[in-house]
Amino acid sequence: MRIIYATDLHGNPGAYERFLKEAGKKKIEAVIIGGDIGPVGFMGLFIQAQRDFLEIYLLPRFRKFKKETGKTPFIMMGNDDFRVNMDVLERAEKKGILKLMSQKVHKLNGFQLVGYSYINETPFLLKDWEKKEQEIKNDLEKLAKKVNPGKAVFVFHVPPFNTKLDMLYNGSHVGSRAVRDFIEKHQPLLTLHGHIHESPRMSGQFNEMIGRTMSINPGSESMVSVGLNDLKSLKLIKFA
Ligand SMILES: [Zn+2]
Repeated sequence: MRIIYATDLHGNPGAYERFLKEAGKKKIEAVIIGGDIGPVGFMGLFIQAQRDFLEIYLLPRFRKFKKETGKTPFIMMGNDDFRVNMDVLERAEKKGILKLMSQKVHKLNGFQLVGYSYINETPFLLKDWEKKEQEIKNDLEKLAKKVNPGKAVFVFHVPPFNTKLDMLYNGSHVGSRAVRDFIEKHQPLLTLHGHIHESPRMSGQFNEMIGRTMSINPGSESMVSVGLNDLKSLKLIKFA
């Protein structure tokens, strides 16, 4: 079971094209996008710009991808995506163009896939996908009851706190403590993250073992591909 993962593509068609080209290869069985789907800018204007990005570019592109490869991408929003546009993604899911994964458990050929869009609080203006650490902790405990951790892949938009995966340009750590506690306690097979675009560049690492769990944040300049039966097969692929 080989998966491919990218995150924080922020409406960059070049990155999407590169990702879908790689995702279309025969050996890839699941295609996963971890949030911050659309372009960003000032608030009001960008609600419509993100909606247009989904309707004019992304959904037709996914439809074509599915027709050519038979694969349906798994996707969720991140903290920079306006929740008010969820109806567009929900309609696309009903048409079979994509599968939404935040707070849902999907079967993945003997494994399980669970997404979680929410991040811990930030100084940024958009609060659609922010929660307090305690609330995140409560949500995650509910999700933990629905999976077999040893067979589960969790996609958290936010990285775990104080790791190689949550390092800002100034060297400080801003990940979620609740996400880290969850990984330490439940030890899922694999966790995939994003949100801190520069972390791999700053820390020099895009993956880290937390106990038996492999955690990955490829940043916004690369994607990763990995076999779930053999995590050592992990490969980082640059967009450019
Ligand atoms: Zn982002």
